[in-house]
Formats: sequence, C-alpha cells, structure tokens
Amino acid sequence: MNGVTYQVFQARLTYTPKACEKCGVKNENHSVIKHGTKTSTIKLGYIIFQPVLLRLKKQRFYCKVCDQMFTASTSLVDKHCYISNLIKSHIA
Ligand SMILES: [Zn+2]
Repeated sequence: MNGVTYQVFQARLTYTPKACEKCGVKNENHSVIKHGTKTSTIKLGYIIFQPVLLRLKKQRFYCKVCDQMFTASTSLVDKHCYISNLIKSHIA
C-alpha cells in the first residue's frame, strides 16, 4: 500500500448481543438477528519493524423492534475509527 509492505492479519468479530444498541430492547426471542458483515482495515502498529494491518470482518446486527442495524464493537478500536486504541495510547 503506497509503497509500504504491511503484514496483514485477518479476523472475524462476532457475538450475540444482549440488547439492541439503537433502542435498547433486550435480545429475547431473536429480536436482534445477525445480518451480514462489514470489513474494516485497522492500523495495529508495528511488529518487528513492520507495520501491521488488521482486516477485521465485523458482524452486523438487525433489530426487528426498531428496524435498525448496528455493527459489532470491540475495545481494540473506537467506532468509525481505523487506528487501534493501542496506537492512540502510544501517541498520547
Ligand atoms: Zn432496536
């Protein structure tokens, strides 16, 4: 990418949410269902002087109660952000 060689890790993020992130309804009787995936590329930092990217396939969920979608989240990276919290803490 742009003349830089990256190591790329591929991973998949999925779980069963306890509640809808949008309306807060409890996930009972399959009110929140899995609905496709969304892949994001996250800068993880360096391992042995080589930059590392994480290609993370995130689960998408659909809430039947409020008719909205949301994406699985992780403490590794903030929402709508492509730089890992690890790198942010190093910069800080
Ligand atoms: Zn909902």
